[in-house]
Amino acid sequence: MDKRKVQQLVERIARLSRRSERRYAVMEICGTHTVSLLRSGVKSLVGDALRLISGPGCPVCVTSQGYVDAACELAMRPNVTICTYGDMVRVPGRRGSLEQHQARGAEVRVVYSPRDPLQYAADHPDRQVVFLAVGFETTAPATAATILEAERLGLRNFFALTAHKLVIPAVSALLSDGGAAIDGLLCPGHVSIVIGADAYRPIADNWAMPCVIAGFEPLNMLAGIAALLAQADTGRAEVENVYGVAVSPGGNRVAQDLLARVFAPAPAVWRAIGTIDASGLELREQYSRFDAVRQLGVEIGPDYEPPGCLCGQVIQGKVEPTACSLFGGECSPIRPIGPCMVSSEGTCAAWYKYSRHDNTRAQVTQE
Ligand code: SF4
Repeated sequence: MDKRKVQQLVERIARLSRRSERRYAVMEICGTHTVSLLRSGVKSLVGDALRLISGPGCPVCVTSQGYVDAACELAMRPNVTICTYGDMVRVPGRRGSLEQHQARGAEVRVVYSPRDPLQYAADHPDRQVVFLAVGFETTAPATAATILEAERLGLRNFFALTAHKLVIPAVSALLSDGGAAIDGLLCPGHVSIVIGADAYRPIADNWAMPCVIAGFEPLNMLAGIAALLAQADTGRAEVENVYGVAVSPGGNRVAQDLLARVFAPAPAVWRAIGTIDASGLELREQYSRFDAVRQLGVEIGPDYEPPGCLCGQVIQGKVEPTACSLFGGECSPIRPIGPCMVSSEGTCAAWYKYSRHDNTRAQVTQE
């Protein structure tokens, strides 16, 4: 890392912040940014100059408890195999996590791509293979491609329990709610590769909200934060892209076409936030034979919070993890209570691992 450039950017951020009468607040809307900011030390470097707030950017964390319970219910059926990305297996549900269901005899497989369950379904025609399709625009195109491949192969035993979510409607809902007072949005590089920089224009225009797209390297994140403060300093609300090496104005048309072909926008339930119109993706009618809800008769029940858990407020940027009385005590990465402590991109887990605090209790020295 170029230390001189880091120092220049930190000094620029400090200079811009000193010009303001109040402390700026910037929200990152992506779990990868949350972890990268903490792990790299960028949050500590700029912590005196501004507040960095984590928003609803961790895919596991925003998935409703009702979905987790539905996955567990399916897992306990004798001929069902659940295939999921790793973090989902440890999210506690009403009757335990998928990992605990696995210990009770359920077949739960951790996968790294939806192609893995597809192959498993092809190799095991006697099993009903259910892929837990969670995540934002980063993972949804791979699910779409896999559904098309399942159709091409004529598979009758491959299903998706879909909970894919879209970033822009969620951020719009968050800003409409007015719960988190922020001066700018640090927008995620990987999602933006798919949706394109122009997708943020309604956010910038409708809420006079500066938006800057950044990658995940410390220098790039610092450049993004500096650009956000420069906009706030001059009263501008524009979409800027400091990750131009990967993000184009229009995004990845191939991925967008895949999504549009297989999915339709639909209302989605977000943990603690509730239902947001057109913020999720449901399989189009012609692919409904791959829909686990419709084909396997499982019901996704209402959302709820584990007792004492503040994940819902954490993912909306309304409180920091240390506001939760369970943080670092009853709730830790070894024995998590809420998804924000389970997921590698969860705000609570990132704070636990990388913040300066006493992990035996919630005694924070950072801020
Ligand atoms: Fe939920 Fe644990 Fe975070 Fe508290 S510390 S908000 S219980 S995940």
